[in-house]
Amino acid sequence: MKLIKKPSPNFGLRSEGTDIEFIILHYTAMSTEKSLERLCDPVHEVSCHYLIDPSGICYQLVDDRKRAWHAGKSYWRGYVDLNSRSLGIELVNSGNENYPEAQMISLIRLLKYLIDSFKLNPKNVLGHSDIAPSRKLDPGKWFNWKKLAVNGVGLFPEVNAPIECDKQIFLAQAVRAGFNPNTSFEHIFKTFRNRCRPNVTGEFDGYDCALMQQFADAFDIDDSSNSK
Ligand SMILES: [Zn+2]
Repeated sequence: MKLIKKPSPNFGLRSEGTDIEFIILHYTAMSTEKSLERLCDPVHEVSCHYLIDPSGICYQLVDDRKRAWHAGKSYWRGYVDLNSRSLGIELVNSGNENYPEAQMISLIRLLKYLIDSFKLNPKNVLGHSDIAPSRKLDPGKWFNWKKLAVNGVGLFPEVNAPIECDKQIFLAQAVRAGFNPNTSFEHIFKTFRNRCRPNVTGEFDGYDCALMQQFADAFDIDDSSNSK
């Protein structure tokens, strides 16, 4: 796919013994121009591998094999240095608006290419909010995870019926999926609602529990697909 090179100096080496296993999705919360400026400015010490603007134009800032600085303090399935194990994709979006069709098409094309190139498991395409739920909201409630799942490049649990509603069980399932066990119920609930039921505003219920159970089942299976 066509990529515009916009090299950022903000990268390092991946830790020894790590491999690319995850793709982390972000929103920039600023314009394309400002995002590129910031992600390439050594003063800010932030970067990502790819940035996709609202019209679908895709920029490459850091080489895939290098460690970009996008995840910060994060956790997933026992890993804490997610930057060493992931590729970061920034989507130009304020966090309070729809992701345009052209941008989603470009993202799906990029994800297919990366998943294929690095033999990744589509469930390992995660949001920044999944790996840092107490600090981050991106890619947020406007991001269409179902569209990723339909295209085979992401995970979106769907259930027909609720199960018993219990906060402790919900949290245990969340940890089984991969969330940081030191996260509050409120943060995981908010992140998970945004991801799976963005249009639902009511109280925590049995559908949230059923969805989390299915989400955890997808990750917590005894095969080699959790890594790769
Ligand atoms: Zn982010």
